[in-house]
Amino acid sequence: MEQKGQPTTIVTPEGKVKINKPKWLRVKLPTGENYKKVRNLVEEHKLHTICESGSCPNMGECWGEGTATFMILGNICTRSCGFCAVQTGRPDAVDIYEPGKVAHSVKTMGVKHAVITSVDRDDLKDGGSEIWVQTVKAIRHQSPETTLETLIPDFAGKWENLQNIIDVAPEIVSHNLETVRRLTKQVRIQAKYDRSLEVLFRLKKGGMRTKSGVMLGLGETEQEVIETMEDLRSVQVDILTLGQYLQPTPKHLPIAEFITPEKFAEYKEIGLEMGFRYVESGPLVRSSYHAEKHLF
Ligand code: SF4
Repeated sequence: MEQKGQPTTIVTPEGKVKINKPKWLRVKLPTGENYKKVRNLVEEHKLHTICESGSCPNMGECWGEGTATFMILGNICTRSCGFCAVQTGRPDAVDIYEPGKVAHSVKTMGVKHAVITSVDRDDLKDGGSEIWVQTVKAIRHQSPETTLETLIPDFAGKWENLQNIIDVAPEIVSHNLETVRRLTKQVRIQAKYDRSLEVLFRLKKGGMRTKSGVMLGLGETEQEVIETMEDLRSVQVDILTLGQYLQPTPKHLPIAEFITPEKFAEYKEIGLEMGFRYVESGPLVRSSYHAEKHLF
């Protein structure tokens, strides 16, 4: 079963145009036993996943394969990025049992490579890093064979909080740049392009295998995409993901362009030539898509 492309408004330099989503963005509707198992676990433990909160188009595929990306520290974010479907506002109190619940689900699902992300918690002194640490430890305790990718925030540049993550050394640590330098203010209003590069630099200095993701189709030029890739290589990022931005609701930033699969393939070649060890590039690629392949 396929989701038919709904007409989408895109904003080109000439103005608004209504077009059908290209066929390469049509995805399978979620079905199957594994999908139901993941859904039941998420509901039973009142967990949050970025798959749902971020309206990810790959839920059918990933959940169908028994994998999901858990989102910790609640489901309300203190930031209000123009691209992101996660709810913004004042978050609930931290749930100290969350690390155990996430670890239990990872174990029950038999996840071999777990991807964890979080909302931004600029309201907390430790930026949520203690819950991050407890989550990593709980997963390792309950599933010692499971490898981990932590997709972390910038901790508002409070480097002692970043150090807490380095100290528990997840197998991969990701931090997304999300867009090119020129569009950062528009796309990630409270974030800074250079601060994100510094996060990645410090992670690498701490011995981490690093990964970053960029969304395309927000109005960036090809030259800007290449410059962004060069910036990521300048801080020795190992793994790059490039995917098409999709507007989650009409209130979010409009799509400026649909990038073709061929263009994504070209960027992949360029990235590999630049020295990234792995480049996942395609219209439906999301930061955690095929994450298990990035262990190499
Ligand atoms: S790509 Fe990531 S966010 Fe999307 S469904 Fe898969 S695991 Fe979830």
